Amino acid sequence: MEEMKRLKALLADSRRIVFFGGAGVSTESGIPDFRSVDGLYRARWKYPPETILSHEFLIERPEDFYEFYREKILVFGARPNRAHLALAELERQGKLLAVVTQNIDGLHQAAGSRRVLELHGCTRRNYCMACGREYSAEDILACAGAPRCACGGMIRPDVVLYGEGLDGRVVKEAVGAIRRADLLVVGGTSLAVYPAAGLIDYYAGGELALINRDPTPADGRATLLIRGSIGEALGECVEPGR
Ligand code: NAD
Repeated sequence: MEEMKRLKALLADSRRIVFFGGAGVSTESGIPDFRSVDGLYRARWKYPPETILSHEFLIERPEDFYEFYREKILVFGARPNRAHLALAELERQGKLLAVVTQNIDGLHQAAGSRRVLELHGCTRRNYCMACGREYSAEDILACAGAPRCACGGMIRPDVVLYGEGLDGRVVKEAVGAIRRADLLVVGGTSLAVYPAAGLIDYYAGGELALINRDPTPADGRATLLIRGSIGEALGECVEPGR
């Protein structure tokens, strides 16, 4: 396929690649995304994910928040797929500056990526809203209802919920990396969640490769558009490490 050849050549010729991705990067690991046909969005819950995964909902209906969160968000046993592994390999080769992700599943780090800028935090980290004590994802899964700290405070995941602001330090680092990039690869994201999606506007380089199953608002800006599986595309175009 002509597009695959071009992606392979772009990845080979670039020295400061930045990857910007979202939930679609992890669907091939068995974690559903929000918007595609099999995604959480269409699943039978009383409220859309944006409502349940909001700051207001966590505070006002913590039991319902955690029911959804344990069933749909805390996916255990998921393993990195070819997309995660290919990005980790590009970093090992010294060609990739950073992975900027909207995902909260920790799979890029599990694949070996080191510079992962998590715009929306990570479910692996949790903390008490009263005293700040830290808890693991296993701690959250091990109890029922809204998890409580020894001090009595409620424990919450270290993720950015709808209605909450992004971490300024992470955004600054992401913008810095995107600005320096000589190739931006965008993939597995509907580019519908702001302000995260707006960060790709800081890209000043020439080539923009976009790999996504469904159309996105940035398709017109892509110099290479691959409408397909991101695991397949990156898996085929990055030589595995030795
Ligand atoms: P999204 O659900 O809005 O969009 C996912 C996009 O990925 C869709 O356009 C879909 O066509 C595409 N896609 C799905 N599987 C693909 C594949 N294998 N190959 C190529 N493309 C594929 O996701 P988003 O843009 O990241 O926004 C949703 C929000 O939900 C984010 O803020 C994210 O934090 C959160 N979320 C995270 C996870 C996770 O951590 N794994 C899972 C669900 C939602």
